Amino acid sequence: MKITRISVYHVDLPLEHPYWLCGGRLKFEVLDATLVKVETDSGLIGWGEGTPWGHTYVPAHGPGIRAGIETMAPFILGLDPRRVLDVERAMDIALPGHLYAKSPIDMACWDIAGQAAGLPIADLMGGGSRTPRPIASSVGAKTVDETREVMERYRSRGYVAHSVKIGGDVERDIARVRDVESIRRPEEIVLYDVNRGWTRQQALRVMSACEDLNVTFEQPGESLDDIAAISGRHASPVSVDESLVTLQDAARIARDGLAEVFGIKLNRVGGLTKAARMRDIALAHGIDMFVMATGGSVLADTEALHLAATIPDDNCRAVWACQDMITVDIAGGRGPRNIDGHLHLPDSPGLGVHPDEDALGDPVRTYQ
Ligand code: MG
Repeated sequence: MKITRISVYHVDLPLEHPYWLCGGRLKFEVLDATLVKVETDSGLIGWGEGTPWGHTYVPAHGPGIRAGIETMAPFILGLDPRRVLDVERAMDIALPGHLYAKSPIDMACWDIAGQAAGLPIADLMGGGSRTPRPIASSVGAKTVDETREVMERYRSRGYVAHSVKIGGDVERDIARVRDVESIRRPEEIVLYDVNRGWTRQQALRVMSACEDLNVTFEQPGESLDDIAAISGRHASPVSVDESLVTLQDAARIARDGLAEVFGIKLNRVGGLTKAARMRDIALAHGIDMFVMATGGSVLADTEALHLAATIPDDNCRAVWACQDMITVDIAGGRGPRNIDGHLHLPDSPGLGVHPDEDALGDPVRTYQ
């Protein structure tokens, strides 16, 4: 089987509510999504998606994905998409780094490989759990009252996991963490996501003040060096998210004991092929995982769900449904959707959901 054509679509996905990242980073209202259709001489077609969480979250942006594919396309055409390692190597040679540009191609290849094998991607990867995965909310509020209000909104839709965004104001962060813990239900999974918004000193102040609560803080500093510098000076579990980009990052975090949780985002780490290695490093070191898209449609959510399904139930904390935060649906209601706060693994071969092509418009580029 050979890849014969790659079509690239650019789609704007408007957010239901505008989003501000902490630390003075820009507000954004629309996600820039790149959808990729990979066609083969067998007639099988695979779909991939890369949707960064705005242009200011991590070094990734929509135009960069499309430019990266332009550079890599001549090296991908003609390869067998079922041989995902061959495609991965071709992309790594054609364009070192730029992992976020590679993930949509990797995703489409897994989609085709699954269809060719007659298996959902998770089963092709070795076996997917059918235990529904809890969906984490994204509570991007500022005050104590707003935080309660947004959490309540998600609870009413069945959510039992919450990623509460903090960072930037020490006293307010302490107040919000303590308040959420006071109303947290026993079954609820809560992560306090700093999104790199603290200096080392701010991190130590909040983590010390919340030490009695034993809550998990995600990305409590800008870099792994920052997280390492405060490690051993606080007692809180840590999740690393934005600073987990390469396999070397995963190895360092595991070896040096910098985190108890990995936040694996498929687009950031370069797709399923590379993320599966991070999963194995995590499992070998007793590190639990959140698995998510960086953003996007039901396609991106479903890709993350497949990887999450290959993690033992006890080690997979939650997934995400960015689809619940955007106002357009490019898949006409198909694919895994929020059912009582959980996503259920699709049983159809491959990814298990494809877009409605009419919703995408014409491709912005086609390579063949
Ligand atoms: Mg995070």
